[in-house]
Amino acid sequence: LDFSGYLKNRIRTVPDWPQQGVMFRDITPLLQNPKTFRMLIDIFVYRYMEEKVDLIAGLDARGFIIGSVLAYELNVGFVPIRKKGKLPFKTVSEEYELEYGNATVEMHTDACKPGDRVVLIDDLVATGGTMLAGAKLLKKLGAEVLEAAAIIDLPELGGSQLVRDSGLELFTVCSYD
Ligand code: IMP
Repeated sequence: LDFSGYLKNRIRTVPDWPQQGVMFRDITPLLQNPKTFRMLIDIFVYRYMEEKVDLIAGLDARGFIIGSVLAYELNVGFVPIRKKGKLPFKTVSEEYELEYGNATVEMHTDACKPGDRVVLIDDLVATGGTMLAGAKLLKKLGAEVLEAAAIIDLPELGGSQLVRDSGLELFTVCSYD
């Protein structure tokens, strides 16, 4: 079975959103359909079930949807990496560049401990900035990032290459050229 093609059929492309010239890849139809939602989660479950994983870290906000279900299935904990100003306790933070301006991601200082084996997850890798910033936060707290994972790669933007060049393993389920 062509899992990637099956899932891609449920990913909607919305042109010119959130701004002119952007082709937004929308995973809500994939999540809405029970077969593709299960297929997606199972791809990640089978990939990590034989690994010694301590934690799943999910990136705000779609990384929470898949990350929390994956953590539950692997019987490990889940930690959210959030956009600036959302977390109530002490945080570590990492600023990174966007096409226009900057963004900051934050994680609680006690969200993981040195030596924790973590899988970092998000829905999509574009420039790779979000994934790299998330990995930096985990490393700041001494965690080992086993792999970064996403549903979608946009290889033309160079982000997946950048992530891999930084020494991080990256797994994606499907890609759009
Ligand atoms: P990056 O930091 O440039 O790699 O952008 C990735 C982040 O932006 C992820 O958190 C995505 O959720 C979001 N993102 C960028 N483009 C898209 C898209 O086409 N569809 C869904 N999310 C996107």
